[in-house]
Amino acid sequence: MTQAFLPFALPEIGDEEIAEVVDTLRCGWVTTGPKAKRFEQAFADFLGEPTLHAVAVNSATAGLHLALEALGIGPGDEVITTTHTFTATAEVVRYLGADVVLADIDPTTLNIDPAAVERAITPRTKALIPVHYAGLAADMPALIALARRHGLKVVEDAAHALPTTCGGRLVGTLESDATVFSFYANKTITTGEGGMLVTRDAALARRAQVMRLHGMNRDAFDRFTAKVPSWYYEIVAPGFKYNLTDIAAALGLQQLKKAHAFQQRRAALAARYDERLQGLPLVRPPRPAPGDTHAWHLYVVRLTDEAKLGRDELIERLFAAGIGCSVHYIPLHLHPYWRDRYGLVPEQFPHSQHAYERMVSLPLYTRMSEADVDRVARALAEALT
Ligand SMILES: *Cc1c(COP(=O)(O)O)cnc(C)c1O
Repeated sequence: MTQAFLPFALPEIGDEEIAEVVDTLRCGWVTTGPKAKRFEQAFADFLGEPTLHAVAVNSATAGLHLALEALGIGPGDEVITTTHTFTATAEVVRYLGADVVLADIDPTTLNIDPAAVERAITPRTKALIPVHYAGLAADMPALIALARRHGLKVVEDAAHALPTTCGGRLVGTLESDATVFSFYANKTITTGEGGMLVTRDAALARRAQVMRLHGMNRDAFDRFTAKVPSWYYEIVAPGFKYNLTDIAAALGLQQLKKAHAFQQRRAALAARYDERLQGLPLVRPPRPAPGDTHAWHLYVVRLTDEAKLGRDELIERLFAAGIGCSVHYIPLHLHPYWRDRYGLVPEQFPHSQHAYERMVSLPLYTRMSEADVDRVARALAEALT
């Protein structure tokens, strides 16, 4: 008898989220309004820093774009990021007419290698975008020190990193200029589509607030509720349409309350994978530093050279066993756009290339059972032994 297909990722939406969305629909304020505002404050509170500026947006991509725009990144500038990421991390640099410089990863953590960043710095370098790959904090102390030495801005792509800690502090409260989280459907909390830009820089936050809604000097909620004439606004820049709806924020308010419980569930499932996969020709994911939290957005294993089959074949075998899996990521240096624009070859990124050729992301989400983990481990053992 064949078992039901085990998907790679699934959101966990409870009655609380449904009730909050229904409440939004009944109250009639469906776009950016009171719930988006509440979600922003709840997010700053969640990070333990109520005075942090949190700017809700309709995607992390939008948040990254707004952060770089507010930092003045533009034509002639270079921004360094990891090749081992989703294209969104880098594409926002091109939106602004600046250039992307890709750096290789650390072969153990799969996070951007500070030494590779240092080598990539030129007189045109203006900013760095570290990614906390899979939910494991990047080496922020080294990256921040490097940025200070070279006068660079730092925007963290924290799409995988809610909640992640680095040196005991939550990502979002470190020393970077801005941090951007994603609430895309498969992330650790979801609003369907959505994101949050957080910063201690009031001017950056103000610029992002204006630019997320057409470059208007007041947002729609203020416009329709404040005492000054409701029809009046000024356009101060050609902005974007990046605001988060209250329907999405309603989901976010309830998901955020569960973020710690979700993380604990993911960590427990990851620990079970670690145990069940022992003895197989696989490199299991790196652990966080002692005392630190890994968000466990992804559980990525890599085949060792002893494995008797290749990555593509392994994925076929898992699919044949009814198990969904994925690869995070096809490095940017292999995609035609990035490869051809910058003349990139795999030899420039040996660690990313090596990891890519051997990696598989296994199913990991809160609604999985222990039995699901065991089933994946059994399928791996059958394929590999
Ligand atoms: C998901 C993701 C993004 C983009 O997030 P959206 O909210 O879908 O825009 C950016 N960077 C990384 C590393 C991601 O995984």
